[in-house]
Amino acid sequence: MALFVYNSLTRRKEEFVPLEPGRVLMYVCGPTVYDYTHIGHAKLYVSMDVVLRYLRYLGYKVRYVQNITDVGHLTDDADAGEDKIEKRAAQERVEPMELAETYTREYFWAMDALNVTRPDISPRASGHVIEQIEMVKALLAKGHAYEANGSVYFDVTSYPAYGKLSGRKVEEQEAGARVEVLPEKRHPADFALWKRAEPGHILRWPSPWGEGYPGWHVECAAMAQKYLGKTFDIHGGGLENIFPHNECEVAQSEAAHGVPFARYWLHAHQEPLRPIRTGGYTFLHPHQPLSGHH
Ligand SMILES: [Zn+2]
Repeated sequence: MALFVYNSLTRRKEEFVPLEPGRVLMYVCGPTVYDYTHIGHAKLYVSMDVVLRYLRYLGYKVRYVQNITDVGHLTDDADAGEDKIEKRAAQERVEPMELAETYTREYFWAMDALNVTRPDISPRASGHVIEQIEMVKALLAKGHAYEANGSVYFDVTSYPAYGKLSGRKVEEQEAGARVEVLPEKRHPADFALWKRAEPGHILRWPSPWGEGYPGWHVECAAMAQKYLGKTFDIHGGGLENIFPHNECEVAQSEAAHGVPFARYWLHAHQEPLRPIRTGGYTFLHPHQPLSGHH
């Protein structure tokens, strides 16, 4: 019996046919581990778990990769703002990696409690900086990126397909920019592949462009390629990740490699069906056991 999925990339329901018969390569954007897992995360990962379990039930051998973002996810989407991990670590007066480890454990605790299957590989972004630098170098070499002031940005004008996943046009962003654009960017829609570390920034690595840290989008693109290849079957994530995060992943990967990135994009609503707006998200906390937790 054929399996049909709704593919965000083509915006239609399509028959799912993996690249290699009997085998499925699947990546899902994992959590940024700066706080407790909330019910929105749970909604997303339970949804993806249903997909994973169903594929395995059908007999596919699935390799399921889901990253842990422990560096480079900034508090705003325009490449300004603070690193979420560093900001919270300063508030809690712990090392950034101590904070990341704490909330990585909390995340797995919550997922285990919900009986969500653990990924086959849970790569940490901080453990794959070498691969991310290699990808940035490839983009520079192909003319899809430029260095400015110790940071490296993706040049959206060099990649005409930018916007194909989300359906957003580059021009829309010029008009609708929510925040002031960094003067070192050539185009308001350009996004950071590598950021120069300011003095006092703890999470930093040496690179050809000086000490800095990777952009959030390049992390997922580099880790997906490392474990699943340049082209793989399924990329999943939350609906609110389509833009800019997933869009930027597609652009970087396809511009760097010249082949398609993920073939099927599955996006799940992270909001519960009845949106909780009054009190914000409900957090899944180990000291308040979930019903049915064993
Ligand atoms: Zn991601």
